[in-house]
Amino acid sequence: MASATRPTTWLVTGASRGIGLEFVRLLVSSPEHVVIAACRRPESATALQALKESERGERLHVVRMDVSDFDSIRASVKQLEPILDDVGLDYLINNAGIITEDTAFTLDPEQLMDILRTNAAGPALVSQVCLPFLEKGTRKVVLNVSSTGGSIATSDQRKDKKYTSYSMSKAALNMLTVKQKAERPDIIAITLDPGWVKTDMGGKDGLLEPEESISSILKIVTSATPADSGKYLRYNGESLPW
Ligand code: NDP
Repeated sequence: MASATRPTTWLVTGASRGIGLEFVRLLVSSPEHVVIAACRRPESATALQALKESERGERLHVVRMDVSDFDSIRASVKQLEPILDDVGLDYLINNAGIITEDTAFTLDPEQLMDILRTNAAGPALVSQVCLPFLEKGTRKVVLNVSSTGGSIATSDQRKDKKYTSYSMSKAALNMLTVKQKAERPDIIAITLDPGWVKTDMGGKDGLLEPEESISSILKIVTSATPADSGKYLRYNGESLPW
């Protein structure tokens, strides 16, 4: 655990709205956290701007990062260095993601590449550029926000067959997590389904309010130990079949 004088540091991608914004909102409410909210357009991220202007704003840093643009990810290091060079990064939350409706025999391969780029290649590169900061951190946790859609074992049981490219991208993210764990035993890499959450992506019929999902996820990641690395979990801590 971090000492009393050292803040716990977090980087959340895709923080402008939805699940990413909820991570930031819950984290900045506690004085022990310093939070870096990464988003592709800080100038139009109005909810983040409002948090920044609140009394909690001094512990919030908003940085520009488009996870589908590899130059943007690499360029973000210059924004991260002044915040993280001394203290390191405790938690990286690879949250940014996109979805599209498609099926195996109708999918547009260009759209598939876009989804793989944002949902799998982006998190891989973000993890790479953050590794030097994670090495300096106390907790060294990488949380990859996945989906039950990435589960090959349960794919046949799922009622909707519509999200083929998305499911492929989350299966790739799951494999990335396993590889991260295998290559770096000092890092705790977890892939996790947040549940069906009421966001722009989840829609209004979602089963969970963002706060319910994210407060549970925060308990899981803050108590995670090296024995949890490489796990595929639900937001409530249950294991998911690969
Ligand atoms: P939303 O669509 O509500 O929000 C997506 C967020 O990702 C936005 O902040 C968006 O930014 C950001 N984003 C998208 N593309 C990029 C990019 N190239 N670079 C940086 N940021 C980007 O989705 P959710 O909040 O619901 O989903 C968050 C994560 O949770 C995703 O990975 C998703 O797959 C996963 N998930 C969600 C579920 C749900 O029920 N909601 C269920 C299972 C998994 P911008 O505002 O700029 O568009």
